[in-house]
Amino acid sequence: MSTTEQTYIMIKPDGVQRGLVGEIIARFEKRGFKLVALKLATPSKEHLEEHYKDLSSKPFFPRLIEYMMSGPVVCMVWEGLDAVKTGRAMLGATNPLASNPGTIRGDYALQVGMNVCHGSDAVETAKAEIELWFGKEGINQYKLASSSWVYEA
Ligand code: UDP
Ligand code: MG
Repeated sequence: MSTTEQTYIMIKPDGVQRGLVGEIIARFEKRGFKLVALKLATPSKEHLEEHYKDLSSKPFFPRLIEYMMSGPVVCMVWEGLDAVKTGRAMLGATNPLASNPGTIRGDYALQVGMNVCHGSDAVETAKAEIELWFGKEGINQYKLASSSWVYEA
């Protein structure tokens, strides 16, 4: 568990349209994570197919790509202790009906095909996703002023 672990979190088109951008960012900020990359993007079909390439044989794949192309998405990289696993826990289960209240999907969504937010599922996946979405512009490096009040000395 590293305090510099990074995860790729993406607010999906439904999350943007429903005005949840601030809410979702606030949850990661308040938890103590550091925002190291952020942009609003309208990705191409090819880019989304690459992002979800592991799911390309699934029956829901065409609908998933269509959903992800239905509006802009907010792309973020959050850094901190156990960021990948904790990010997934904050998101909740893939199917919102199975997500506990208190999680993002458990508070804001009902169906799997409109589940508001993406989060990397493993450290290696996070590295690939960060490269795919932020490879060109890169990640910011800075010391978060509050870090000494989040992490034990
Ligand atoms: N998805 C879907 N139907 C399914 C499973 C997944 O529409 O039966 C969509 C859903 O938006 C999900 C995304 O495909 O978030 C990626 O699926 P994955 O299994 O990677 O779930 P996640 O990692 O997002 O929880
Ligand atoms: Mg996934």
